[in-house]
Amino acid sequence: MRISENFMPAFKSQEELRVHQLKGLQWTVQHAYHGSPEYRKKFDAAGVKPEDIQSLDDLRRLPFTTAEDLRAGYPFPLRCVPYEKIVRIHSSSGTTGKRKNLCYTQKDVDDWARFFARCYQMAGVTESDRVQIAVGYGVWTAGVGFQAACEKLGAMALPAGPGNVDLQCQFMLDLQSTVLCCTASMGLLMAEEINRRGLSDRVNIRKVIYGSERSSRSMREKISSLLGGAELFDITGLTELYGPGTGIECPDHDCIHYWSDYYLLEILDPETLEPVADGEWGEMVVTTLAKEAVPMIRYRTHDITRILPGPCSCGSIMPRHSRIMGRTDDMFIFRAVNIYPSHIDTIISGISELGSEYQIHLERDASERGVMRIVTEIREGADLEACQPLAGELAKKIKRELMVTPQVELVAYGTLPRSERKSQRVFDERIQDPII
Ligand code: ZN
Repeated sequence: MRISENFMPAFKSQEELRVHQLKGLQWTVQHAYHGSPEYRKKFDAAGVKPEDIQSLDDLRRLPFTTAEDLRAGYPFPLRCVPYEKIVRIHSSSGTTGKRKNLCYTQKDVDDWARFFARCYQMAGVTESDRVQIAVGYGVWTAGVGFQAACEKLGAMALPAGPGNVDLQCQFMLDLQSTVLCCTASMGLLMAEEINRRGLSDRVNIRKVIYGSERSSRSMREKISSLLGGAELFDITGLTELYGPGTGIECPDHDCIHYWSDYYLLEILDPETLEPVADGEWGEMVVTTLAKEAVPMIRYRTHDITRILPGPCSCGSIMPRHSRIMGRTDDMFIFRAVNIYPSHIDTIISGISELGSEYQIHLERDASERGVMRIVTEIREGADLEACQPLAGELAKKIKRELMVTPQVELVAYGTLPRSERKSQRVFDERIQDPII
């Protein structure tokens, strides 16, 4: 039997890791400065030259990169290599309609598959496993990310894609999948369906690797118990940082180990942008160490987490952070798609008979992977009856731009509450108990 390559890092000590990180940081800063006029402008404005980076502490001299930089440089933002070196583009939604496009070189794609294979290995997946990949395939990083790494590891990949419960059940029965990769809500849906259909004794799912959505303790417990004690692994990642697979929960299940040989993690106070003490919650800011096409330098992810100091009981040398607790902005994730209310706002304002007040309700329902219900007012003086066809039009426009279909409900002008402060737009009722 073939034994998989070991994808775990070879570093024996923190010192060795730090030497590698400094080399990576120096390379990244040189590469960005000479490869991208945008990065050069930002460095010049901050008064920092590549030669100034002499220690890992010098990271703090570098300017931040934001989603706005990616928007401004559309369609190839912060590109640091010639087009000929780019082998792939991935894309995720941005704040107001402009998508975030990210370029990859062959080395970027290879590096990503290698450290993602490490995630599978951390979760104890081997070449004997059959991995049912029930995440989105397309411009997103999810499908191809899970797929390439699964093949790299040498496990059997079943690219099922998201949804389609009948097909998922059939694969699980006929092919005896042992690992399910999905979002947390899809994991819960599948666990419930398997149970409802009385298939529990005939399916063989032992591990669930889930990402891109927050999960609660009760949700995790329910998925695991409905699947006969399957082990759950929360996987992290974002498109700006290659995609999913930049870290994963370890078999001791108390934390996320992140791959600090590929990127540096800072946890900063989102207001002051100063570092918080280890163990305190703050915004995750990342700096890549090897990314060629679009290196990320102090990129503000808006994800909230904290560093967990000290070594882990599992013995891994890789540092760790808590599960992602939430966001510093109002982005939410629905069916694994990142959605900004401002983007929906822009789409609504494009239909002249609609008003400016709206609410987004995210709810669970038994038959689906969650429901997004948009309640929007019609324009002052417009007739509610006559406006009804606009509900379908709005749903279609949102589907076209965000690739998810909402339910739309139109209400008369003045129905929704007004607030002098910023109105609450997003009502997420999917998770009822604390995130852990
Ligand atoms: Zn561990």
